[in-house]
Amino acid sequence: MTDSKIQKRQISLLVAAPRGFCAGVDRAIKIVELAIEKYGPPVYVRHEIVHNRYVVDNLRELGAVFVEELDEVPDGVPVVFSAHGVPKAVPHKAEERGLEYLDATCPLVSKVHRQAERQVEAGRHILFVGHANHPEVIGTFGQVEDGHMTLVETLDDVAALNPDDPDKLAFLTQTTLSVDDTQAIIEALQKRFPDIVGPKGEDICYATSNRQDAVKQIAASCQLVLVIGAPNSSNSLRLVEVAEREGATSYLIQRADEIDMSWFDGVTALGLTAGASAPEILVREVKNRLAEHFTIDEQKIRTADENMVFKLPRGLETA
Ligand code: SF4
Repeated sequence: MTDSKIQKRQISLLVAAPRGFCAGVDRAIKIVELAIEKYGPPVYVRHEIVHNRYVVDNLRELGAVFVEELDEVPDGVPVVFSAHGVPKAVPHKAEERGLEYLDATCPLVSKVHRQAERQVEAGRHILFVGHANHPEVIGTFGQVEDGHMTLVETLDDVAALNPDDPDKLAFLTQTTLSVDDTQAIIEALQKRFPDIVGPKGEDICYATSNRQDAVKQIAASCQLVLVIGAPNSSNSLRLVEVAEREGATSYLIQRADEIDMSWFDGVTALGLTAGASAPEILVREVKNRLAEHFTIDEQKIRTADENMVFKLPRGLETA
């Protein structure tokens, strides 16, 4: 029998929706593209604009230069700050050096920055629920003076807290956390410190919670869930965790060539989703790879509609 006559095994593919790009990522990428159009290359970008290698490589080809710190940006060239947000000291330093900068911080992250300032102005110490060393957390801590914010990562951290004034506390959260874990931490904070104030619910963004809801839904009916996203993408890692909690095995992949076909042994129902910084082209790439090996019975499972669009910074709308 020739290869073309070998019958492919049928697999049912549940594709989560919403998935992939959110409004903040879309805006950040547009800012870099428009900046290159407006100023001409090179345009420097402090930190990966969004956590996705494919996106970063494409922008690099257009003329973006990615650096980790402002010191690496030469004088006289424009610089873009990533979607994750930056400590206040960064734009201050850019101004001191006379650098032209564009802030691609997601407006939902900026909202948390303003909340942090307001809570400190009101004399409250902030308990910030997030992951150590994530750029968004570093950016939010950098909105207020040192000593006004404490990081809380786990329920054990809540139990170990010993604030100077338990009646003057506020909580805030990173935007890309696990909805369920964060809820448990906030409840523990409220139990320990009944006067603590904070946003209604948490600051987890619409895109993070919609993608978690969608993957939860598909994972319940799948043995395996593939999540397209980068290992440093917080919201993508959370999608893997959510799928696993629903009982599915789950792998984070950046590209289709990372798929190991032995993962599919015994799998009849497969789920597929993508983190907020992963473009749809990578989802198509994965589907094409799967189609080389299986007859796919595809079903889209939509749990929410998204139509959020964020405005571009002034000066770029007409570029
Ligand atoms: Fe903004 Fe949420 Fe997207 Fe992050 S994941 S860029 S907070 S919309």
